[in-house]
Amino acid sequence: MVGILPINLYKYGILNNYEKQAIARRAQQIRSQCQVITEQLVESDYMAGERPELIETLISQLGSIYSGRVVIVNENLKVIKDSYGLDEGKVIIATEVIRCFTGGQGEGYSLAGDFLEVTVPVIDNATKNTAGVMIISVPTGDIHDSMAALNRTVFMLQIILTLLTIVAAFFAARMIVRPFRKVTASFEGVQGTILEEEIAMPEYTETEQLAAAYNRMLHRLRVQEDSRQEFVSNVSHELKTPLTSMKVLADSLIEQAKAGEVPNELYQEFMTDIAQEIDRENSIITDLLSLVKMDRRSADIHVEETNINHLIELILKRLHPIAAKRGIELVLESFKPVLAEVDQTKLTLALSNLIENGIKYNKDNGWVHVSLNVDNTFFYVKVEDSGMGIPEAAQDHIFERFYRVDKSHSREIGGTGLGLAITRSAVLMHHGAIRVYSREGEGSTFTVRIPLKYVPRQQEAEVTE
Ligand code: ADP
Repeated sequence: MVGILPINLYKYGILNNYEKQAIARRAQQIRSQCQVITEQLVESDYMAGERPELIETLISQLGSIYSGRVVIVNENLKVIKDSYGLDEGKVIIATEVIRCFTGGQGEGYSLAGDFLEVTVPVIDNATKNTAGVMIISVPTGDIHDSMAALNRTVFMLQIILTLLTIVAAFFAARMIVRPFRKVTASFEGVQGTILEEEIAMPEYTETEQLAAAYNRMLHRLRVQEDSRQEFVSNVSHELKTPLTSMKVLADSLIEQAKAGEVPNELYQEFMTDIAQEIDRENSIITDLLSLVKMDRRSADIHVEETNINHLIELILKRLHPIAAKRGIELVLESFKPVLAEVDQTKLTLALSNLIENGIKYNKDNGWVHVSLNVDNTFFYVKVEDSGMGIPEAAQDHIFERFYRVDKSHSREIGGTGLGLAITRSAVLMHHGAIRVYSREGEGSTFTVRIPLKYVPRQQEAEVTE
């Protein structure tokens, strides 16, 4: 279109104009030649009936130059000269002629069929009056002929240019899509494990950028895949441990039963251990299920206006007996009533984990302080404890799944290593933030900040890596 349209515009716009201009130029040329004659017509008293040889020659020359007809009309509209000798003595009443006498724009031309008619007033310079009108009528066939020839040439040009444009457009299109073909070929060429093969397409800037974007995506997928595999192997390991213990306990009971009567106390002890391992397995599975729920996108979040003071009080009430067992003081400090849009189940789980950890990793007769504060946009929950603290090097990792500072101790007290990962996911789902401050041996402080109003984000990123 970009190529073909201008050619047509040129043809129909410029050429038509060109024809008009050619005629106007011809008219102008005739008029200036006539003016030379009209001056002499007055001077030689031609209008009064004189017929000097020179003027007659000039008139017949003018007629033959343009192969046209020259007519001179006097002020009574009577034809006093007709180079064809047809209308002499007759009266002419034509608009252009009258216009010359009435002082209008007499000098003009008109097209009558294939004839160009130019009218020029004969002005008497002494009186400034119009003494007559000179009318020249010439055929315009030659202009039409040359225009037709020009049209033919342009038509040929039009066809050639159209063809050239189509061919050029075809090649241009091929050139434009070539990089994309290359990309497709490269993608199809990735035969092995898709996550391992990076592609390189340095030929074009576009393909280079695409390749870079593809490789970045590949990298992200690889990181995700690695973390998934690590998670799966961790899960299998964690789930297997209690099973292995149970198997050992059960086997030894069977062996002993074979050997003879099993003492009741031993039986009791082993069965208690087995029951504990079952509880452990159960808590790992419960935690895993919670984590999987949190891993989904925030579409799964059910926010409702909640009284946060009340929510924390309920958590503390539930955890009170566990704390009391070890003489740990559990205190809530709330400065203002807080109403916020949260998912109650998820937030309860998140805060329970923090407070439970404060109790679990505490010394006997210690304390756990929970405080709730609020400003215009956020509410803040702080959980402080007088426990064992977290070594600085471990602080970056405690939110990872299955990470435990002291594996054996954590297991002893029933930890799964998933609690803080669940807490972090839940907080991030609320578009909040969580921080830890701790000193080994002195205690730990976890702070959680959550917006009062839940604003769903357009494109929610995965809340866990
Ligand atoms: P777990 O189920 O083992 O408690 P978490 O994810 O809740 O797993 O915590 C990860 C690790 O962080 C724990 O094993 C523990 O070593 C450490 N930790 C968490 N909270 C505290 C705390 N309040 N005081 C000391 N250590 C803590």
